[in-house]
Amino acid sequence: MLADAMDLSPTPEQDAFRLACRRWLEANLPWAYGTGFPPHFDDLAEEVAYLRDWQAQLAEGRWVGVTWPEQYGGRGAGALLHYIVQEELARARAPELVGRIGINLVGPTLLAHGTEEQKARWLPDILGARTLWCQLFSEPDAGSDLAALSTRAERDEAAGGWRITGQKVWTSYAQFADWGLLLARTDPTAKKQAGITAFALDMHAPGVEVRPLRQITDERDFNEVFFDGAFIPDDQRIGAEHDGWRVSQSTLTHERGTNPRQLVIHAQLLEELLRLALEHGAYDDHRLQQRLAEAYVEVRLFQLHNWRSLSRIESGKPLGPEGSALKLYWSEMSKRLHDTAMAVLGDAAPLWWGADDNPGGGRWQRSWLYYQSASVFAGTNEIQRTIIGERVLGLPRPAK
Ligand SMILES: Cc1cc2nc3c(=O)[nH]c(=O)nc-3n(C[C@H](O)[C@H](O)[C@H](O)COP(=O)(O)OP(=O)(O)OC[C@H]3O[C@@H](n4cnc5c(N)ncnc54)[C@H](O)[C@@H]3O)c2cc1C
Repeated sequence: MLADAMDLSPTPEQDAFRLACRRWLEANLPWAYGTGFPPHFDDLAEEVAYLRDWQAQLAEGRWVGVTWPEQYGGRGAGALLHYIVQEELARARAPELVGRIGINLVGPTLLAHGTEEQKARWLPDILGARTLWCQLFSEPDAGSDLAALSTRAERDEAAGGWRITGQKVWTSYAQFADWGLLLARTDPTAKKQAGITAFALDMHAPGVEVRPLRQITDERDFNEVFFDGAFIPDDQRIGAEHDGWRVSQSTLTHERGTNPRQLVIHAQLLEELLRLALEHGAYDDHRLQQRLAEAYVEVRLFQLHNWRSLSRIESGKPLGPEGSALKLYWSEMSKRLHDTAMAVLGDAAPLWWGADDNPGGGRWQRSWLYYQSASVFAGTNEIQRTIIGERVLGLPRPAK
C-alpha cells in the first residue's frame, strides 16, 4: 500500500475549476468569505431548515455531487474534482451538508443498484436537499454484526408490496428525513446475509414512528425508528429480492472510503485550535507546544492519506479494505486533537454553553463529546482493526 506512486500535481483544468468554485463561494456565501462563520443554532429544526436552503443554493451552482452523472444534477467528474470542492468549502468554513446521507451513501447505492425509474424518481431531489434521506441499517441487536438484523419485510400480495415490522436505532436525522434506505429480512430461513432485501421507505407512511434519542451533547441528531406494518410498494425494492446484503456493501464502501468530509472538518478544527492556542498563550507552554505540533502534523498526515487514496481511485484502482485504515486513523487523530483543545482551555474545559467566561461558548466541549462517537459510527474501530488484520495484513481469521 505504501509503494503507490502519488501524483496529484494539478492540471490547468483543475486549477481553473478550483478558481471557479472559489469565486462562486466568494460571491454567494451567506457569511463573509474568509472572515465570517456560519450561524450557530440552538434549535436543530432551525439549523436543518437553514442548511437545506444553503445546500439548495450550492446545488444550483452545481457544487454538490460533482461525481454524479450530469442527468441527475452532477458534473460526471472524478474524485479529484470532488476533493477540490471539499477543500474550497473548508476554506470558506462551510458546514457539513445536511443531505450528506443522500449525497454520499444513498445516491451512489441507487446509481449502482436502482432501476432507471428509481434513479429518475429519487436522484434529482437529493442534491438540492428537496428530499432528505436516512440510513435504516442498525438495530438494537445488529450493529457491528449488521447481518443479524431482524426487522421483517413480509409480502403483501394483495397490495402489491411489503409490510415492515421491527425496529431500527441510531438513525441520524430520521426525524427530518423524507425517505429511508432500509435493510429488512425477507427470508428468515436463509443464511444470515442471504435473506435480506433493500428498500426505499417513505418516512411519512402510516406505521412508521420516529422517536428522537437525547445524546450526551444534549442534541437529538439520531433516533429510534419503529415499524408497525408500514407498507412499501414493490417498485420501491432496491435490487433483487434477498440481494440486500450486496446492495448494503455499496453503501458501506462509500461510508468508509476516502474521507474529504472529515478532512475538511478537521482542517477547520485545526485552524480554530491554533487560533484558540494563540488567544490563550498556549504557544508559550512547552507541554502544549508539542501537542499542538502533533495536531498539526496529524491533520497534515490525514491529508496525505486522503491524497494517496484519491491517487489510487484516479488511476482506476479500488480502495478496498484500506479505507478501514483511513477511518481508524482519523477517528483516533480526532480524539487527540480534541483532548489538546481541552488542555488549551484549561480550567474552562468543563464549562458548557452560555458561560460568560467560557471561550468559544462551549463549541469545543460539544465537539469533544460528539467526536467520542467517531470510533463507533461507520463501523467501530475494533471492527476496522479486524478488517485491516485479515484483509490488508493477511493475518489468520479466528477459528469459529
Ligand atoms: C453518531 C452516530 C451516528 C450513527 N448513524 C447511523 C445511521 O444513520 N444509520 C444506521 O443504520 N446506524 C447509525 N449508527 C450506528 C453505527 O453504525 C453502530 O453504532 C455501529 O455499527 C456499532 O454498532 P452497535 O452500536 O450496535 O455496537 P455493537 O456492535 O453492539 O458493539 C459494541 C462493542 O463491541 C465491539 N464488538 C462488536 N463485535 C465485535 C467483534 N466481532 N470483534 C471485536 N469487537 C466487537 C464493538 O467494537 C463495540 O465496542 C450511528 C452511530 C453513531 C455513533
